[in-house]
Amino acid sequence: MKPLKHVDSNMNSLISDLQKLIRQPSVSAKNEGIEECASLVKKMFIRSGIKSEILRLKKGVAPIVYGEVKSKKKNSKTLMFYNHYDVQPAEPFDLWEYPPFSGTKKGNKIFGRGATDDKGELVTRIKAVEAYLKTTCDVPCNIKFVIEGEEETGSAHIEQYLKKYKKKFACDGVIWEFGYVDSKNRPIVGLGMKGLLFVELSVKESIRDAHSSLAVLIKNPAWRLLEAVKTLRDSDGKILIKDWYAEVKPFSKKDLQIIAKEPFDEKAFKKEFGIKSFVANKKGLDAKKAMVGGATCNIAGFVSGYTGDGAKTVLPGDALVKIDFRLVPQMDPKKQIQRLKNHLKSKGFSDIGIKVYHGEAAARTDPSDPFVSQVKEAADESFGESILNISNAGTGPMYSFVDALKAPCISIGSTYMFSRIHSPNEFARVDLLKKTTKCMCLIMDKFGKA
Ligand SMILES: [Zn+2]
Repeated sequence: MKPLKHVDSNMNSLISDLQKLIRQPSVSAKNEGIEECASLVKKMFIRSGIKSEILRLKKGVAPIVYGEVKSKKKNSKTLMFYNHYDVQPAEPFDLWEYPPFSGTKKGNKIFGRGATDDKGELVTRIKAVEAYLKTTCDVPCNIKFVIEGEEETGSAHIEQYLKKYKKKFACDGVIWEFGYVDSKNRPIVGLGMKGLLFVELSVKESIRDAHSSLAVLIKNPAWRLLEAVKTLRDSDGKILIKDWYAEVKPFSKKDLQIIAKEPFDEKAFKKEFGIKSFVANKKGLDAKKAMVGGATCNIAGFVSGYTGDGAKTVLPGDALVKIDFRLVPQMDPKKQIQRLKNHLKSKGFSDIGIKVYHGEAAARTDPSDPFVSQVKEAADESFGESILNISNAGTGPMYSFVDALKAPCISIGSTYMFSRIHSPNEFARVDLLKKTTKCMCLIMDKFGKA
């Protein structure tokens, strides 16, 4: 295939484009270089033969860089690439071996903030489309690019963008912004992401901390909060809130087959974290099932009273706990919040304050959707072998896409699992960038033919 050969012989241009993107800082958390990076991406699109425009929602919101190529073939299906041009802050700077915005290349690695997440991934998509345009003057299917600038701060406006530009963004399949590659160089073809509900529960008992001798009379808010939190979950991890799992469907036969096939090195995993056993003593298939489809109620932090060195006999005035719930498909974050509130009330904890930070539903693409086998075949061809995964254990705004566009959504990409994303010395691997670019070409080809 001509486009694949073109990818092979044009890796230098891919690398230099990635370096250009890295050298333009675009830290959304600090609003640094966002507009500049958006126009750089637009320029790159245009240079690659992709029609591009900047889309805006309102002032103060990072723009989306939109790109489009129409196939000459009539009635072509449309494939969307969703990526982001913003990056995490690079701090602490002194831990970087090369300056974080230098894009230094050493052997097979390109170092820099965003090298993999997500500028490396973005460049593979652009170069795949370019390879087709340069060698065939056409693309096998219609292509749309939606490149946002707020992913690293939580994609606060992606849902509004998807609503506003629903028609413009209409498509038949979405390739997600990243995809992991495991330690044996096998890409993970990911069919979903879990949802998330992040809340803060608090108890305020008195207007200030008191001498702990007064614990005979003054109630301790930490005890109160502990008692409340204890009612949320049993020691095996099962959530005890009424109807919490009401809408959840069991795994299908196909799901279970995929889960069974997925490699999971239990021993190495435990060693990595220095742990002896899993929650509820899960093993084998049950551990894997939990990773892809388990809901959680996790204490992210608990603060009250004195936790410094030595002793201090104090009776705290207030207590606070931050909790994240991972949600699985069919759990509606709004309903779950109401259930949590009802639960606390019914257990006699109406005095406990609830602050909701973030609610996001889970998304999962049906493994029998033809798009899944197209992507899987493309990944197998390009990487030699790939792994199908029902759902990532983490969370991303995939549901917004699936819900607004009614299109299957799959993650596949070049993100080596130890590429230090979000940390100092983030790097991209040139070999994986090449394989991923070819994989994107093959996906377009298979998707266009189907
Ligand atoms: Zn990231």
